[in-house]
Amino acid sequence: MSIQENLNQIKRTFKKEDCLLVAVSKTQPITAIQEAYDAGIRDFGENKVQELAEKAPQLPTDIRWHMIGHLQRNKVKYIASFIHLIHGVDSLNLLTQIDKEAKKTKRVITCLLQVHIATEETKFGLDPAELKAILLGPELPNLSNIRIAGLMGMATFTDDEKTIRSEFAGLRALRDSFQSENLPANVSLEELSMGMSGDYMIAQEEGSTLVRIGSAIFGERKYT
Ligand SMILES: *Cc1c(COP(=O)(O)O)cnc(C)c1O
Repeated sequence: MSIQENLNQIKRTFKKEDCLLVAVSKTQPITAIQEAYDAGIRDFGENKVQELAEKAPQLPTDIRWHMIGHLQRNKVKYIASFIHLIHGVDSLNLLTQIDKEAKKTKRVITCLLQVHIATEETKFGLDPAELKAILLGPELPNLSNIRIAGLMGMATFTDDEKTIRSEFAGLRALRDSFQSENLPANVSLEELSMGMSGDYMIAQEEGSTLVRIGSAIFGERKYT
């Protein structure tokens, strides 16, 4: 199936119309990204800074680039001038660095805080106590070039739908629990970035506002 047909198929199976589709284009060539762009996609996600910084100048300037991978502090400077949304922020240190680089380019950079919801040890992310410490701590209100728009999480890699569903539901409940707190002015938690090719329908049923889909659009990734 073509990229266009895959996109049509995904849209048909969306459970939530107003959920943003971010096309995860990591490892994909420029031609494939252009094809998805021509099919109407404007939001693309990459997980490596170098790959993103190489690809972005070769593609239309109205693309909104999403950083979905683990971001190292010393690499923030390469994407600060153009990045649309950073999904995987999991420390105050990193937030402080993003704020600093955002100031240099006179931008406010929108971020999502990544929460560890899977049972696997390997996935990055904050636990609820660490999340609370960042959201309600004294530092965040001073990071004036940062905006926190919500949370991001990755479910356990499993076929067990119940596990996936409860992890996504847990992230949503965690988000909801902060709505009644006195959050800083640069925090609003409307976005929930959850769901990939294998679990986006479950994620949408559990309240996702933003799904990150790669292989279902572009086919299996070839790592070289
Ligand atoms: C690669 C990746 C995706 C997309 O995965 P698919 O299973 O190909 O849809 C989504 N989110 C993150 C953080 C990723 O690294």
